[in-house]
Amino acid sequence: MLHSIRLSVEEKVDILVVGAGSAGCCAALAAAQNGRYSVMLIERYGFPGGSSTQMLDTFYGFFTPGETPRKIVGGWPDQVVDALDAVGAVFLRPNTYGAGTGVNYNPERLKAIWDLLLARQGVRYRLHTTLIDVVGENEGYSCIVWSKAGFGKISARRVIDASGDADFSHLAGFGYEVAGEKEPAQSMTTTFRMSNVDLGVYEQAGGKKMLMQRMNEAVAAGRHALPRKEGSAHEMNARKCISTVAVKVAGFSGLEADALTSAEIEGRRQAFVYEKFFQQEVPGYEAADIIGLSHQIGVRETRRVYGQSRLTKEDCMSATIGADSILLCGAPIEDHRATPGGGTETHWEYIPGTGIYGVPYGCIVPEGSATAWVVGRCFSATHDAHASCRSMAQTMSMGQAAGFAASQSLELDESAAQLSVRSLRNTLYENGAVLEIPVSVADISRGGWANNKH
Ligand SMILES: Cc1cc2nc3c(=O)[nH]c(=O)nc-3n(C[C@H](O)[C@H](O)[C@H](O)COP(=O)(O)OP(=O)(O)OC[C@H]3O[C@@H](n4cnc5c(N)ncnc54)[C@H](O)[C@@H]3O)c2cc1C
Repeated sequence: MLHSIRLSVEEKVDILVVGAGSAGCCAALAAAQNGRYSVMLIERYGFPGGSSTQMLDTFYGFFTPGETPRKIVGGWPDQVVDALDAVGAVFLRPNTYGAGTGVNYNPERLKAIWDLLLARQGVRYRLHTTLIDVVGENEGYSCIVWSKAGFGKISARRVIDASGDADFSHLAGFGYEVAGEKEPAQSMTTTFRMSNVDLGVYEQAGGKKMLMQRMNEAVAAGRHALPRKEGSAHEMNARKCISTVAVKVAGFSGLEADALTSAEIEGRRQAFVYEKFFQQEVPGYEAADIIGLSHQIGVRETRRVYGQSRLTKEDCMSATIGADSILLCGAPIEDHRATPGGGTETHWEYIPGTGIYGVPYGCIVPEGSATAWVVGRCFSATHDAHASCRSMAQTMSMGQAAGFAASQSLELDESAAQLSVRSLRNTLYENGAVLEIPVSVADISRGGWANNKH
């Protein structure tokens, strides 16, 4: 393809990060930290954050679930939350079950925070730019991108694939598993936000317990055809607004445009079924309306690259932290499955023992790679391990590790596969990452991040 297109621009950078989701932004921030290398971050949409700003408002994975929560993530992910905290755009949602305590933020503010942090680190950050092809070079890759100006070529000595769908790895010829190939792929969700909710009335009427009961009654009586009688409808960091993760769309590929079109249409249809239910059946929602649907349908998994290591369910359930770990995870397996009858269910499985496991460095190195890494929801994991290790505190941590690794590999002239993981872990430690089980239980009832609730 490279030969048949006219290039409007050709550029060279040391490190290119593809995709400005939670993983890609943290990768670029870490890669640019020492200021030695030119770092470029490209993103196909007009704003940063990926799922973190397109459809969500809660970082899970900072804290382990259960009665004795521990904070197991630090470094750049902390700096992101600190920056949100500084503008009053974050509060904690304590929770002992589910995925544990959530760090709830204002997603529109988060877009501006990502902008600010990237600018401060001197990242060359380019929106409205889509990776469409890749050609291997002696050292690194030529990445062909498309924007309104036409086609461009970015030659990079190191590349971090943070595209969520492993677009770079696919185009560069690395191996991967497509979700649905072995186990059923997780379902998709169009999230939506409602305004003018009277949360006082809602809580007085019984809150979440009441909501679940009303859902069951409404479906049983045939009043509302809700596709799922569970999910999260939670307070946002914006007055009288709630955010909802309830829609479930199963059985569509997240990689094919026709299938994605059908999924988007179905997701929107379901969202308005929920709106009517909320307005008619849930105290506090009588005058509430949907004010925003997710920018696109939320796709939980598509391509998962085969890495030097592969995180498996057994690794998660062994609750061990190896000497090659680059981040920790304590989130349960949360598998949003399709059921044979056409419905969906969520399967939960908690990590036993310490409740915490380590993710090996090899899970972010595509098999056979010398100069590329893969982070975020397309990292190397089996379906069920991925269902545990996909929360944003973990995707940000993977990004941070890959950013430091790319910078280290240039500095020490190491290949991705041969990189000294000991040095990388030292850098991670020095920069606040958590790589061992914290001795003390996190106090989530007070402290900076908890104070900004409206
Ligand atoms: C419905 C849903 C609910 C979830 N709920 C939560 C939750 O409440 N809390 C939580 O912590 N986690 C949650 N998760 C999981 C979590 O959101 C994701 O695993 C995580 O955000 C993935 O981050 P990422 O950076 O790897 O990918 P993404 O956020 O998908 O970012 C990838 C970025 O790359 C860009 N991109 C893609 N292809 C290209 C290309 N070719 N060229 C240029 N740019 C490209 C995309 O536009 C995007 O910005 C949820 C996921 C879903 C789908």
